[in-house]
Parts: sequence; C-alpha cells; structure tokens
Amino acid sequence: MRSPPLPRETTMRAPPLSRETTMRTRPLPRETPVLVIGGGPVGLVTSLLLSQRDIEHLVVERREETQRAPAAHVIRRRPMEILDGVGVGDEVRAVSSRLALDFITWCTTLGGAEVGRLGLRPADPETGERGPEPWLNCSQNRLEPVLMAAARRQQQAQVVSGVECVAIDQAPEAVVATLRTTDGNESQVEARWAIAADGAGSPTRRMLGIEMEGIGPLGRFAMIHFEADLTPWIRDRPGPLYWILHPEATGTLIVHDPERSHVFMTMWTGGADGQDETLPDRLAAALDVPVTPKILSVESWSPHVQVASRYREGRVLLVGDAAHRFPPTGGLGLNTGIQEAENLVARLAEVEAGGPHAGLLQGYEAACRPAAQANADESFENMKRLAEIARVIGSWPDLAGLERRIADLTDAERQQLAKAVDAQSSHFLSDGSFPDGG
Ligand SMILES: Cc1cc2nc3c(=O)[nH]c(=O)nc-3n(C[C@H](O)[C@H](O)[C@H](O)COP(=O)(O)OP(=O)(O)OC[C@H]3O[C@@H](n4cnc5c(N)ncnc54)[C@H](O)[C@@H]3O)c2cc1C
Repeated sequence: MRSPPLPRETTMRAPPLSRETTMRTRPLPRETPVLVIGGGPVGLVTSLLLSQRDIEHLVVERREETQRAPAAHVIRRRPMEILDGVGVGDEVRAVSSRLALDFITWCTTLGGAEVGRLGLRPADPETGERGPEPWLNCSQNRLEPVLMAAARRQQQAQVVSGVECVAIDQAPEAVVATLRTTDGNESQVEARWAIAADGAGSPTRRMLGIEMEGIGPLGRFAMIHFEADLTPWIRDRPGPLYWILHPEATGTLIVHDPERSHVFMTMWTGGADGQDETLPDRLAAALDVPVTPKILSVESWSPHVQVASRYREGRVLLVGDAAHRFPPTGGLGLNTGIQEAENLVARLAEVEAGGPHAGLLQGYEAACRPAAQANADESFENMKRLAEIARVIGSWPDLAGLERRIADLTDAERQQLAKAVDAQSSHFLSDGSFPDGG
C-alpha cells in the first residue's frame, strides 16, 4: 500500500542551506518523510543515498562533533563503489592514509623481534610488480567530516548535530520521534519512516524491544589513541597492523598515520570506574622504541558477535551497528553498514514511488540479515584463528622468555609458524559477504 502523502510544505524542496544554517538556526521540522537517527558514518551515507534519490529527510546526531578517535579504517571494494556513487569517493581518497598497505606484521614488540609477516600485495612472478592495495585505509575520524560536509551540502537533507532522539512512538501511518537538543529543549517530529543508524548501543533498538542474537561481550579491551612518529620502525615493512605478542603488553597496533596517529588495542585491566592505570606502561612496553607516545584518548569497549533478531519494527528500520556488532577482526562493521544503507534506500525509494511497502521492506531484512550474520561469523573466525600463531610459540611469562623462545625455534616450528601466518590471509583480504543484490 502506498503511504499517504505528507502535507505539501514538507515534501517541497528547500533551497540549499549553508552549513551554519543547518547546524544551528534552522528550526527542527515537525514533519519529514524520513528521519535518520544517528549521524555516524552509516547514517551519513544513508543521508547521501536518500538525497541522491531525491528523498527529503532529517538526520539527528546527538554529538556536537564528529568522531575524534580513528576507530574504523578499512574501506573495502563494494562500499568504496557506493561512496563513489554518491560523489564523495575522491574526497575520501584524498583524506586517506598514504601508508603503503604491503604487510601485516607479527612481532614481540614494535622495536623487537619479528615473528612473521603476511604480504598483502604479492608480487607478480613475471613482472615482479606488486598487486593493487586490497582496501582503502581511511580513518573514521577523517571519513566522518567528509561525509558530514557532503550530507549537509545536499538540499534534500537537514542534518543537525547536538540533537538526540529520546523516544519513539508508532502509529499505523507514521513514526513520532521526540527529539532533545543539548540545551534540553524537546520537540516532536512525525516521519513516514525512521532509520535507526544509532550505533551498537542503539537506543532506538532498545526502545523498540528488538533483541540482539549471538554472543558477547567477549572480554573488555582498551583503545588507546596516541601520537608518535613511528616511521623508523615501519619504513621497511609498511602496513596498517602490527600484532604485538609481548606477554605483558599483548595487543594490536593500528598505524593510521605513520608520523602521527596510531591506536593500540589491548586488554582492559582496570576497574569499572573507567581508569586503567597500567595502560601507559603497557603501551610503552608494546612499542619498545625510543619515543614518548602522547596519549590523546582512551576508550574501553567489548567485542560482540551479534545480529538483531529483526531489522524492522513497523516503520522503523535498523541499519549499521544498530543492527549488528562484530569483533573488529576483519574490519567488516562499517563496510556491512554502508552496503545495508544502499539496499535499504533503494527499497525506500521504491516505496516512496508507490511500491508495496510490506514486501519491499520485508525484503530488506531477507537480503541484509544473512550477510550480516555471515560477516559476524567471519569476524569471529578471524579473531579465533589469530590464536594459531601464539599456539605455535606457546605462552611465556615475560618478554625475555618469549624472545629466547623465538630465537630457539626449530626449522619445523618455523615452518609451522609461517603456515599459521599464511592462514590469516582471508582475515585481511576477504571482502566479506554482500547483501543479496549488493
Ligand atoms: C577499533 C575499531 C576498529 C574498527 N575498524 C573497522 C574497520 O576497519 N572497518 C569497518 O568496517 N569497521 C570497523 N570498526 C567498526 C566501525 O567503527 C563501526 O562499524 C561503525 O562506526 C558503525 O557505524 P554506524 O554509523 O553504524 O555507528 P556509529 O559509528 O556508532 O554511529 C552512531 C551514531 O549515532 C549517534 N547516536 C546514538 N544514539 C543516538 C540518538 N538517540 N539520537 C541521535 N544520535 C544518536 C551516535 O552519537 C553516533 O554518532 C571498528 C571499530 C573499532 C572500535
């Protein structure tokens, strides 16, 4: 059934707006065809796709600023095509890391013994030339401002920051959302459709009573964002990831910008009060190089392997991390979300053009949920497979013991280790599963 048209003034095109106008002074509308809750990367790509299809919409984002920590960094082939399709591909490439994606490295510490190296761009046996890079390395804190600026440039979009959706009610033909600004003012907006792109903790999903299915939390981790020039230790083996095996500082070093910006992920050993006093020392131990890292932020998080039991409740649809939470092993979270946004917006456009909404939107879950489940499983398998490397080496109480063990590996053990490293290739080279038709 075709949804009833909204009053004329809400469907008329607004003139292009300046960034300041959309952020601050333009009043929140009372009605909008589509409400997007959450202006993270998936909500913003959803907005660009809606604009491309000439669908007016409102995006509300509760933060005042875009993401500061680098977080996601892998943008794979199909999501990049989608970004190209909405016209931001070149801008995204321009803010991406220049670091060559040649290797993934396992080492005792960044400055210590190397345990294994996986080539991401094997050389052509005839020409000797390296293959293309397997993905684009774009830090989320550089991606989001590009998406935000582009979303705000579109005349079909009103994108407001500092506005939180605090309640959602559904009538047969509309969704009524209560919005609260940072200064506490509340207002209501009526939409034909709401898209919940409000992240892994999705308040909208909780308000709708949609359960997550799967496992988690799987422990607790710290994400330390720090500044340091690490060029001398990565120059000869450039790559985005260094798996650190130091027994007291095990973790993953993600190089976002070799001269400046990095993330170290390691176990959280602090209490529930938000403090882990051991982190600066563990970061220094993991690096083990003569630089003094400047810690910019510390966040704690827990991996989950979960997919929402359903992607739709009435006129509200889930997309991105609101619909699934994967371990970061494989970098599939954001990539899956961008592909879901494309699938969903194509269906909504058909519905808005008079298509049968029940079938089209039911099809969204049928197309995207199995792909999300497959990507959740793949991310978890990647996480488990990493243990193969430590299994060959065994566990050692301290760095000196580990380094002695590495030096004393037999030829057979070295071969086993090389095999365990090679077995990780699908983790870094797979594009994951696509939604049906994606
Ligand atoms: C360390 C790390 C590395 C990662 N690496 C990768 C990678 O390489 N590749 C990859 O694909 N994925 C990766 N991920 C996952 C990726 O960061 C997430 O999948 C991605 O951020 C999901 O985007 P999203 O827009 O769905 O959710 P979010 O980024 O969480 O955005 C949700 C937004 O909604 C807003 N919001 C929440 N509630 C409300 C509300 N009630 N009203 C209004 N706004 C609200 C939030 O403020 C937020 O801005 C990584 C994650 C981590 C932690």
